Amino acid sequence: MFDSLNERLSGLFDRLSGRGVLSEKDVDEALREVRVALLEADVALPVVRKFMDKARELATGEAIIKAVKPADQVVKIVYDGLIDMLGGEEPEPLNLAAVPPVVILMAGLQGSGKTTTSAKLALRLSKFDRKKVMMASLDTRRPAAMEQLKLLGDQVGVEVLPIVAGQSAVEITRRALQSAKLQGFDVLILDTAGRTTLDETLMNEAAEIAKISSPTETFLVADSLTGQDAVRTAEAFHARLPLTGLILTRADGDARGGAMLSMRATTGLPIKFLGAGEKIEALDVFDAKRIAGRILGQGDVVALVEKAAQELDAAKAEQMAKKLSKGQFDLNDLADQLTQMQKMGGMSGIMGLLPGVQKIKKQISDLDMSDKMFARQVAIISSMTKLERKKPDLLNASRKRRVAAGAGVDVAEINRLLKQHRQMADAFKMMARNTGGRGGGMGAM
Ligand code: GDP
Repeated sequence: MFDSLNERLSGLFDRLSGRGVLSEKDVDEALREVRVALLEADVALPVVRKFMDKARELATGEAIIKAVKPADQVVKIVYDGLIDMLGGEEPEPLNLAAVPPVVILMAGLQGSGKTTTSAKLALRLSKFDRKKVMMASLDTRRPAAMEQLKLLGDQVGVEVLPIVAGQSAVEITRRALQSAKLQGFDVLILDTAGRTTLDETLMNEAAEIAKISSPTETFLVADSLTGQDAVRTAEAFHARLPLTGLILTRADGDARGGAMLSMRATTGLPIKFLGAGEKIEALDVFDAKRIAGRILGQGDVVALVEKAAQELDAAKAEQMAKKLSKGQFDLNDLADQLTQMQKMGGMSGIMGLLPGVQKIKKQISDLDMSDKMFARQVAIISSMTKLERKKPDLLNASRKRRVAAGAGVDVAEINRLLKQHRQMADAFKMMARNTGGRGGGMGAM
């Protein structure tokens, strides 16, 4: 899977990582190369454009983390862009939430792998999810297709609705629903008729069956080897039949990956499974993280950059701790503190970084530290002028009234906040004297 894309990107990342510093031009060139690689992999142009916009935004935005090598950041930016393209990090689970028998409708062109995939899904549901599964073929025009489903059913040990010659697809659907209900099946998989090309009759029939059977999932099965044709097929089906998801087959042989990478962004539909071989077990839950990891082949780098991003918050906390331990603490610091607070494990998380903290613990815990309170206090502080935040003593009665009106609270609350700030600032000053203004760190405690 993704051999060509992987090769091109690995080459690019290797070249980048040889360099210590990357200029804006370097990053731009690198992203342009990624663009070419995506287009060569047959990713749809609008999808590539969207990817590039997002990547450029990330590359120039504040998200840049100083502690990480620039080349690694480019990897992470491409990774995030791919995840976005593929519909987000978390796999979308199969929806089975309905009164049994829960119906799964399978649609697609002939030869896409629809019948095989029906059996793969049936096996998965019966084996892993312990569901009692029935399958039914609605392909009245091709007796061979019905026989094939029967054979596959026998192979995976899943019940297949007996074939009754001469029935229409709608009649078979009704019989299948009734039969599954009476016999207590959990899931009914309906394998609709396939054709070699898109045609009206085929899609009307599928739409009619969807109406009768109210499926929780209506899947389009598409052959990923057909690239952008698969995307167009999905769009055409989706226009007539409310699809809930996509299953891409032959992912095992797909060296380019254009269909897989374009499907989500083009149709808005989640890819839920990948067919990954002819064997009946070869059906994988679609996992964007795994796919992006496979394309980039840089799993470690991505994990490293993610960790560094988390540590960014910790670094900020430490910076604040240093400032506090010098006894500096104005209302700006308090506002910063309050907004950072929740992110960093609350007041105790920050306090843990301060030397001499035990002495003032009681004072701090007496303060009102509820989350709602935090938000209101931030609102109050942001209603003050810059100067007032630096020098809270400036806040006389008329200024307090103005701030109170701005934040939508009464003056008493302003006074409470100022008193709290004074207590904290005094505590920090006292602590700074006690520790001789040493920087933060547990060693000083
Ligand atoms: P249908 O006409 O859409 O029902 O297609 P079939 O289920 O009959 O599949 C057509 C052929 O594709 C069969 O030979 C399958 O074994 C093969 N096939 C289906 N899914 C996959 C897959 O994920 N990988 C590979 N390599 N072959 C597959």
